Amino acid sequence: MSEKYEGSIHSRELKELICEIGRRVYNKGFAAANDGNISIRVGENEVLCSPTMICKGFMKPEDLCAVDLDGNQIAGKRKRTSEILLHLTIMKERPDVRAVVHCHPPHATAFAIAHEAIPQCVLPEVEVFMGEIPMAPYETPGSQKFADTVSPFLQSTNTIILKNHGTVSFGTHLMEAYWKTEILDAYCKMLLLAKQLGPIKYFNQRETTELLDLKQRLGFDDPRFHVENCDLCGNSAFRDGYKEELPQQRAFEPAPEYPGYLQSKSNNGQTNNTNMDDLVKTITEQVIARMGSTN
Ligand SMILES: [Zn+2]
Repeated sequence: MSEKYEGSIHSRELKELICEIGRRVYNKGFAAANDGNISIRVGENEVLCSPTMICKGFMKPEDLCAVDLDGNQIAGKRKRTSEILLHLTIMKERPDVRAVVHCHPPHATAFAIAHEAIPQCVLPEVEVFMGEIPMAPYETPGSQKFADTVSPFLQSTNTIILKNHGTVSFGTHLMEAYWKTEILDAYCKMLLLAKQLGPIKYFNQRETTELLDLKQRLGFDDPRFHVENCDLCGNSAFRDGYKEELPQQRAFEPAPEYPGYLQSKSNNGQTNNTNMDDLVKTITEQVIARMGSTN
C-alpha cells in the first residue's frame, strides 16, 4: 500500500499548523492549563506531537517532538505527551487517519461526566458531518489500557467521547480533526441551552431519511448505512462495541424510534414480516438494556 504523507518530522509548516491548532484549542477553552494534545502522522513510522506539560496556547515549533508508532521518542528536546498512546492506537487501527486532537471541551465533557448519550436527529450539520458519537469507557489516562478503550468504535466514526475525561477527534488533516471537536462542543452547548427552554424537538422519519440520503450523496459514511435493524435516531449503531451499558439519554427526552435506514430503503416504508420480527427483537433488546441500566 503506498502511503502519501505531507511532510517530515522536520517540516516547519506542519509544526506551525500544530501550534495554530493548539492556540485555537486553548482560546476556545477546550484545554485548560496544560491539558490536551495534538498529533500529525508524517511518515510510515513517524508522528509529530505536542510535548507533555505545555500550554497548547503558547507552543512554538521547536517545542514539538516526534515519536514512532510504538511511542518511542525519536526527536525533540521536550518529553512527548503521555497520552500519545491514544493517538497512536487510532493511527494504527485507522491507516487513513493522519491527525488526532484530544482535549477536554467543557460542553462535550459535561456529557462525558454525566454518561449522557448525545442525542441524534436534531441538527442537519451534525447529522451529516458527525452522525452518532460513541462514548468510550473510562480508564486511567496515559496507559495502553486507556488507549484501547476507543478501539471498538474506531471503524465508523471520527469523533469519540471519553467517559469522565474529554473527547478525541481525528481525520486525514489536522484542521478536519479539529473541526470535529469544534462542531461537537458547539452542538453540546446548544443542547444544554435548549434544555433550559424545554424539551428538544427531533426530526421526523422523513426528515432524518432525507438527511441520510444527502449524507450518502456527499460521500460521507455512517454506521446506519451498514447496520441492520439500527434505529434511525437511537444510539444503537455501535451497540456491539459496548461491553458495559449502552449510553442512555436520561437528561434529554429519548429520540423517537424509527425503523433503520436499511429497512426504510429496502421496503419503501412498508415493513414486511421479516423486518417486523427484527424490529420487535431490536426494540425488546433496547427495553431490556434500559431496564438493566436503571438499576
Ligand atoms: Zn486528557
